[in-house]
Amino acid sequence: MRFATRLIHNGHAIDKTTGALGTPIVLTSTFAKLDMNADQEFDYARSGNPTRKALEETIAQLEGGAKGYAFASGMAAIGSTLGIFSSGDHIVTAEDIYGGSYRIMNNFYKRWGLGVSAVDSTDLDAIKEAIKPSTKALFLETPSNPLLKITDLKGAIAIAKESGLITIVDNTFLTPYLQRPIALGADIVVHSATKFLGGHSDVVLGLAVTQNEELGRKIYAVQNSFGAIASPSDCFLTIRGIKTLKARLDAEQASAAKLADWLKTRSEVTDVYYPALREHKGREIHEKQADGFGAVLSFKTKNKQKAIDFLGAVKYAAAAVSLGGVETIVSYPAQMSHAAMPQKERERLGITDSLIRISVGLEDIDDLIADFEEALR
Ligand SMILES: *Cc1c(COP(=O)(O)O)cnc(C)c1O
Repeated sequence: MRFATRLIHNGHAIDKTTGALGTPIVLTSTFAKLDMNADQEFDYARSGNPTRKALEETIAQLEGGAKGYAFASGMAAIGSTLGIFSSGDHIVTAEDIYGGSYRIMNNFYKRWGLGVSAVDSTDLDAIKEAIKPSTKALFLETPSNPLLKITDLKGAIAIAKESGLITIVDNTFLTPYLQRPIALGADIVVHSATKFLGGHSDVVLGLAVTQNEELGRKIYAVQNSFGAIASPSDCFLTIRGIKTLKARLDAEQASAAKLADWLKTRSEVTDVYYPALREHKGREIHEKQADGFGAVLSFKTKNKQKAIDFLGAVKYAAAAVSLGGVETIVSYPAQMSHAAMPQKERERLGITDSLIRISVGLEDIDDLIADFEEALR
């Protein structure tokens, strides 16, 4: 079965007990023991729930992994995944990761004795040099946020494997439709399903998928202990969102490509960042490891005031954090996602006060371009 078919027919398309095409939302905290002498799959809903199981098996299958786990948010998935490490362990992470991932590593897990080194992961030598005897894992995100920097997954994973590290990849921006890190050698994939997988800006949820059963058992132990589980209702919304993933991303990334090309023709715009652009650094690597360029891009205006004026003037895009919904969202990293980062560090990474990130939704692209043109003027 090809990907689009698997989004619909994945073993959970028809409820085995009633024939329902919609996955039942099982709202219960506990499950009565039906036969005191027999093992039973479900007992308490923190440990397992049928709606959650349907989502967990679906994402594991789509990512090509052995086991999937659903959490209350992307950060709960990432935080719980990092919970498999111990005091004294060390991880190497890309410096260009989601702000919340950076925060939980540096403000939380460091206090519990986890060593963290952040490197420019587009430079494979920098990854190699940061590995110590105590290093257990490499944490990557590509394309990065908000400048769409590309990390060579195969190259980085080969370095990790040489030193016996596991590789964790945050695949939120592309989803398994466009990039499957496990097929490239990664051990764990994490997601904010709040974004493209859910796809409708109506749910906060996270997922983790492991390449093998053993890592699955480790993550399950944290999921069941921490208890940062996804609710059955949110699992249902995510299952529903996943069914239209390909249709949405096909339309959204086609619009993103048109918008990137159009932005490049504008005198008000100084730089455009989108992996499909010929001059984008890492484009060739991206083309080898992904099946598309995604629906997130960013651009720079001439100065801070012009960026702020633009954000205030657009009509068909919400000025907001988040991405991946059916609605186009424009965000201002300097004051939103990267506000906690010292200005000097932000500027070093290229996240200037004139940078705007766009997550392209399902509006008609001609309407969006007309709106952007007026807002830029
Ligand atoms: C949003 C996001 C997260 C965090 O997910 P939440 O669902 O907001 O907790 C993690 N990684 C990336 C790349 C994200 O965009």
